[in-house]
Amino acid sequence: MSAGPAEGSGRRRRQLAAGLSTVRERMAAACSGAGRDPAELTLTVVTKFFPASDVRLLAGLGVTHVGENRHQEARAKVDECADVPGLWWHFVGGLQSNKAAAVAAYADVVESLDRTKLVAPLQRGAQDRGRELDVLVQVGLDPPGVGHRNGADPDEVPALAEAVLAAGSLRLRGVMGVAPLGADPRPAFERLAEVGRVVRGLAPQASWMSAGMSADLEQAVRCGATHVRIGSAILGERPRIE
Ligand SMILES: *Cc1c(COP(=O)(O)O)cnc(C)c1O
Repeated sequence: MSAGPAEGSGRRRRQLAAGLSTVRERMAAACSGAGRDPAELTLTVVTKFFPASDVRLLAGLGVTHVGENRHQEARAKVDECADVPGLWWHFVGGLQSNKAAAVAAYADVVESLDRTKLVAPLQRGAQDRGRELDVLVQVGLDPPGVGHRNGADPDEVPALAEAVLAAGSLRLRGVMGVAPLGADPRPAFERLAEVGRVVRGLAPQASWMSAGMSADLEQAVRCGATHVRIGSAILGERPRIE
């Protein structure tokens, strides 16, 4: 065995460990600043654009929740990590209805349900797999008038939630949101929290609020996030090929 790759992976492991420890400290400080119990906050590490070898290293560092945003890449990584025990895969990206059943075949959580059309294929995929799939409704947090909305209109969320509740193999767990770029994220996260309360009124177990990324995790925690989704602060900058 040559020393090269092992040394390289030792270096990468140290980088990831350092990123993780910084993020865990930020999470703990944010919880303490908000008077919240850190045990209420789950870290999902978003590994998109990074190789399965990073997922393995992260798993060795205690990470159990990983996120991906593109079906093909996610599918391949899930396969490459099939022997890693205890990983939960979160699908956090835009979902095409013709891919939704395939995503439900490997994802443990789909965080990006944003229209009714996705419910039937997700239900079918989960049923074929023979297990329940956790689902979050993605709420659009861009101000009205922005052409492309990342997520469902807040007004449409109750109907979407009802559709998920009516699907036997889907388990409604709460809401997810991405703050608009280049603006104060606080009003967006407050809106998300409010929609989250409405959803919880329909289904008490739907208590998750997935919000907060590398740049805005503190604001999200202050607004009640139960799950933060962190990529670059742990893995480094992604290649600019999005
Ligand atoms: C990429 C991505 C993240 C992580 O973003 P960072 O800014 O790198 O932390 C979180 N959520 C979603 C939906 C993403 O696509």
